[in-house]
Amino acid sequence: MDIFINDISKIYGSGESQVTALSHASMTIHAGDFISIMGPSGSGKSTLLHIISGLDTPSMGQVLYGDTDIHTGSDKKLSAFRRQNIGFIFQQFHLLPVLSTRENIIMPLLLDKKQPDEAYIQEITSLLGLTGRINHLPHELSGGQQQRVAIARSLIAKPNVLFADEPTGNLDSKNGSEVMKLLCSIHENLHQTLVVITHDPHIAKMAERRFTIVDGILSEVMAK
Ligand code: ADP
Repeated sequence: MDIFINDISKIYGSGESQVTALSHASMTIHAGDFISIMGPSGSGKSTLLHIISGLDTPSMGQVLYGDTDIHTGSDKKLSAFRRQNIGFIFQQFHLLPVLSTRENIIMPLLLDKKQPDEAYIQEITSLLGLTGRINHLPHELSGGQQQRVAIARSLIAKPNVLFADEPTGNLDSKNGSEVMKLLCSIHENLHQTLVVITHDPHIAKMAERRFTIVDGILSEVMAK
């Protein structure tokens, strides 16, 4: 499913305190794309991500997943749509401390009363090098391993698109580059559509299509 971001703007506040966080942003995310969006702090990255993923509404413009406009319809419908179509990885891992690796990974399915697909759990845990850690609790895992559990959890519902917001922000450089390698291999092996938001040019360069955002203006960096 392709995702169409059509002329999105976001304006916070009013009068003198008005801030234009995003100005006429447009992009198409094709199924199977690996995209990076790079910009400095305050450039509008989070605002864009929140709007594309339905966590926030635009002041103007539309976000279409196929022919579904995600910002029309009820909050309940949007929550279910998000759980079924969008995966997230954050800087913080947001694992539940009392749940094992396996339980954390299948948590999103339980919310939708769906049965886990055992073969798929095996595939992703093995791809992410978690096979021997399946019954561990988060505090028994390294930071890099915890982020890998969070990645497996983000994939469990087979999302159309996976958004990673500064996925290595909380990791040292060794674990960070390992996590990026894994994201690249997930893109290659599972043909997972992947959008990475980062301020780090080295990470941005790993993507096949690169965008920058500066003062709320989004543009694609053309490949040489
Ligand atoms: P980034 O993620 O790149 O650091 P943000 O999207 O968080 O940037 O912010 C973009 C701009 O919008 C900044 O100038 C920020 O201060 C402003 N902004 C973000 N959220 C709000 C809000 N809820 N109210 C007012 N201004 C906001």
